[in-house]
Parts: sequence; C-alpha cells; structure tokens
Amino acid sequence: AKVWRLARRPVGTPRLEDFVLEEEVLPACGEGDVIVEAVALSVDPYMRYRARLIPLNSVMFGTQVAKVIESKNPKWPVGTHLVHCEGWRTHTRLTTQDFKDKPLFTSPLPEMGDLPKSLGIGLLGMPGNTAYFGLLDLCKPKAGDTVLVNGAAGAVGSAVVQIAKIKGCTVIAFAGSDEKVAWVKELGADHVFNYKTTSIGDALSKAAPKGINIYFDNVGGKFTAEALHHMADFGCVALCGAISTYNEERKEDVATPTGAFKESVLITKQLRVEGFLIYRWGNRWFEGLNQIRDWILQGKLKYKETVVHGFEKMPSAFIGLFQGENIGKAVVML
Ligand code: NDP
Repeated sequence: AKVWRLARRPVGTPRLEDFVLEEEVLPACGEGDVIVEAVALSVDPYMRYRARLIPLNSVMFGTQVAKVIESKNPKWPVGTHLVHCEGWRTHTRLTTQDFKDKPLFTSPLPEMGDLPKSLGIGLLGMPGNTAYFGLLDLCKPKAGDTVLVNGAAGAVGSAVVQIAKIKGCTVIAFAGSDEKVAWVKELGADHVFNYKTTSIGDALSKAAPKGINIYFDNVGGKFTAEALHHMADFGCVALCGAISTYNEERKEDVATPTGAFKESVLITKQLRVEGFLIYRWGNRWFEGLNQIRDWILQGKLKYKETVVHGFEKMPSAFIGLFQGENIGKAVVML
C-alpha cells in the first residue's frame, strides 16, 4: 500500500513538503477481514483542522470509496464498493471490528444505479448530507425565505443552493470566480456574486432589501461579519464551515480580529446561530442520501466533480481547496 503521512504541521496554507509518501506492507487478510483498493479519495477542508491534531507521521485522515479486492467476509464479497475513513491510502485492510465499531466510518454506498461511485464521497456522501441536514433540519426553510450561501460552487454549497431552490426559496450565492458564478446561476440561484470582485455589503443590500432569513455559512471570517448585518429579524445562521480562517493560527474564531462582529447584531436582530457537525445526523444517514439520490435521478440536483488523477496528487489536490481550484467536489481518482 502507498500512504501519505503528515510530515510536519502546516503553517498557514499547507505546502507539499508537509506530507510524505511512503510504502506500507498490509497485514494479511484474516478471517472476517477484507482488503480494499481505493477508487476515489476525498480531499476536504476539515483536513486542515485535523492536521493540527493528529500526531506527526500519522496517515492523513480522510474518506474514500474503495473496492473489495480480497475478502474473508461473506457480507463484503470481492467487487463490492464501500466508503471508509482510514485515510490517504491506496490499499487498506478492514477488520470485523472496523465494520462493528464504525458503522458510519465504514459503510455501504447508497443504492445509486449507474451514477458514478465517486459520488459516495460527494453529493451521495458526507458533503451532500451536510447540505441536506444542515439546511433542512437546522434552518427549516419555508417557501419564500431568502437563503444566503457562500462557497456556493463547492461540494456542500452547490447542494445547498439547489435544495433551497427545491424548497421554493430565493437564493443569494457567492463564489470565487466568474466561471463558478456562471455554474451556480445554472443551478438556479437567483442572485450570484463573485466575492473577489464585488462588495459583499453592496451586493446583499441590493439582493436582499428585506433581509436574509437563512444564512448557510461555509466561509466565516469577514464574510460572516458583513453578512450578519443583512439578516432579517429572527433569522437563522447555520455555521457549517469557516474555510477563510482555517489557515490562521487562531482558527477557533468565527470572525477574525480584523473582521470581528459585534454580539449586538445577534441580539438586536434576535438571530438563532448554531454550529453543527454532520455526524449529529449519523442515525439518519441514509434518509438524506436516498432523498438526494432521488433528486439527482429526477434531474433536480446537479453536480460537478473536479477530478485529479493519481494518488501522488493527494497533497496538491488538498492544497487546491484553499486556492479555489475545485468546482463542485474535489476528488482524487486512482
Ligand atoms: P468546497 O468544495 O467548497 O471547497 C473549498 C472552496 O472554498 C474552494 O473551492 C474555494 O472556493 C472556497 N475558499 C477557499 N478559501 C477561501 C477563502 N479564504 N474565502 C472564501 N472562500 C474560500 O469544500 P466543501 O464543500 O467540502 O466544504 C465547504 C465548507 O463546509 C468548509 O468550510 C468545510 O469545512 C465545511 N464542512 C462542514 C461540515 C460540518 O459537518 N460542519 C461537513 C463538511 C464540510 P471559491 O473559489 O468560491 O473561493
């Protein structure tokens, strides 16, 4: 097996030298075990956070869609595809313990017919469910609500845009290039802006004169500091991610020292602000995925993947997330 290990702690934006590629001999496939080969590996923004926590020289944490290539477990015959969380590795031995202890971390793909298996780490996996439960369960959108989402051309954001449209909302979206803006318009968003070339405040004043009812935040920092002033009274803010701050040393702050928001805006507008981690909905995992699959098959949910080929490209694909290189889900295919 080939594995990518964390060679040193990233400082600021991660660099290629922060990771090291090594060979590893897998243990034999024992009774109840399977050996799987990676098909599609995920790079996700949260890995930046993990890189602060995991011991140096650990295999980088991450999810992949893999295919069983050797099996001594009748439940998982050769050729079966599954999703597991054993990290940046080409081959993995999964034991009965992995299947017992980590039902969400080692799980079957949802029934997906001819759809690409790589969706198991994208729209039909963790990012899709993040959009689904984060928007629907936390924010409970009603037809006619105005929904704001940033990172709108990314894996989570592009799904939020479309689910909000399915629910009859007006959607205001922000993304980081004109190409991304064009795609998010195609997805049905009503007002789409390139945050790199537009004043966020001016854009929101024009697009949401009566205020925003739901803000699904993927970006945090200064964007959020500005957006909160455009919320309608009793609005809901779902804090999903804060990618604009992940490379800062003070990552625990939603708003940076330079862009700090004042609590008073939360009080005077009587906002409900809630952070969430998707694993809160672990016991409803396939409810979300099955609904998303049905919407894809009905033509209501579209997706894109930015695919990089080759396991050796894992670090560069990961770093690319912080440079906005991906449209839709960033995927590394073997
Ligand atoms: P994306 O597919 O959206 O990829 C990351 C994108 O973020 C980039 O393409 C880039 O797009 C944008 N970005 C990068 N740096 C900045 C910056 N400084 N300011 C603004 N935008 C930036 O990733 P995901 O869809 O997987 O994740 C989106 C967010 O959701 C992340 O914050 C992630 O941590 C969070 N998340 C949270 C989960 C939870 O359980 N709470 C689960 C999954 C994801 P652009 O060109 O538009 O700048």
